Amino acid sequence: MRKTLIILFGAPGSGKGSLGDKIKEQLVNHKGMRAAEISYISTGDLLREEIAAQSELGMEISQIVNSGKLVSDEIVATLVEKALSHSDEFVGSLCEKDPNRRIILLDGYPRTETQRLALANMLQDKEMFVVAVKRNTPFDVIKKRVSERRVCKNCKTTHLASDGKCPKCGGELIIRKDDAVIEQRLTEYETNTAPVWNKLALMCNAMQAFDGMEDADAVAKWIVKKYF
Ligand SMILES: [Zn+2]
Repeated sequence: MRKTLIILFGAPGSGKGSLGDKIKEQLVNHKGMRAAEISYISTGDLLREEIAAQSELGMEISQIVNSGKLVSDEIVATLVEKALSHSDEFVGSLCEKDPNRRIILLDGYPRTETQRLALANMLQDKEMFVVAVKRNTPFDVIKKRVSERRVCKNCKTTHLASDGKCPKCGGELIIRKDDAVIEQRLTEYETNTAPVWNKLALMCNAMQAFDGMEDADAVAKWIVKKYF
């Protein structure tokens, strides 16, 4: 086992998050890893956590997100770097026998060329095997998918439902704020993020693109078999 970073790449709503969950599941079920040895860093979650913490930075982020704009590269880099070193220390302390036994899944980063350069910098002295995987999902599929999902106002879980109550806690289901501005986010993706994929070759040990319509389970199995 080697220290590995998996970059989950793709448009918003392309299913990269659920692919990440499936990869984690495969590593636990078939490679004998403990869930705690796998860190899942999602920039969406980092931003939502900072907003929930109501820090000064969180308030600033909240304003930007609510207006449908993207948070600056600088802010996101600060949050990602913090999360990366935290998971490095935390997971490192769990696996004394094999210090290389750790995997980080990175969801939603890098999203711009500036972010890619920042990430390359962060990884410079980490000696990680870096794999980038991309889901190519057609935009009309994404728009349909996003229009059919809601988030629970109470427990924040996402559900495939357009009305009713949260199946987990009975809370009210609402449209996720960033789903409401999906058109704008897809345009941002096409303009700023999609071109980053080719540049990732400069800093990755391996890269693989998948059809977004392929079953996430099958794709995750393939990735785990190939790289672990
Ligand atoms: Zn709920």
